[in-house]
Amino acid sequence: MLELSGSENRALLTRDTELHSRAKQKCGISSLLVQDGDVLRQLNQVRQHYGLVFPKEPEAVRCSVCNGTLELVSIEDILRSLEINKLRTKGVDIEKFIQRYPHFYKCSQCSKIFWKGQHWRNMVNKTRLLSEGH
Ligand SMILES: [Zn+2]
Repeated sequence: MLELSGSENRALLTRDTELHSRAKQKCGISSLLVQDGDVLRQLNQVRQHYGLVFPKEPEAVRCSVCNGTLELVSIEDILRSLEINKLRTKGVDIEKFIQRYPHFYKCSQCSKIFWKGQHWRNMVNKTRLLSEGH
C-alpha cells in the first residue's frame, strides 16, 4: 500500500497508527490518520485537512467501481446500456425512469452508468451539511 501511494503520488488515508507513522517517517508519503469511525465525520476530517470542496455535479466525481472519470451521455446511449437492459428485465418502466432522471453519466473506463437517484441526493445533502460546517 505504501509503495502504491508513493509511486502514484497519492495521499494515504488510514486509521492504522503504525501505517500512518511509517508512511510519514520512512517513505515521506502524505498520510492522514483518520480519527473517527463515523463516515461523515471522516469525510469532514479529510475535507478540512486538505481544504476540499465537495463537488456538486457528477462530472467532477469519480466512478465508485474503478475511479474513472464520468461523462454526461445521451439518452440514446443509455437506452442501449447494460444497466437499463437489466432494469427493463426487472420490469421497470424505462420511459418513466428516463423522465425522472434526465441526466445520465457513464464511466469513461468501465462504462458503468450513473444517475442522480436517491443515493446521489443523500450524498449531496450530507456533504452539503458538512460544507456548511455542521
Ligand atoms: Zn468505472
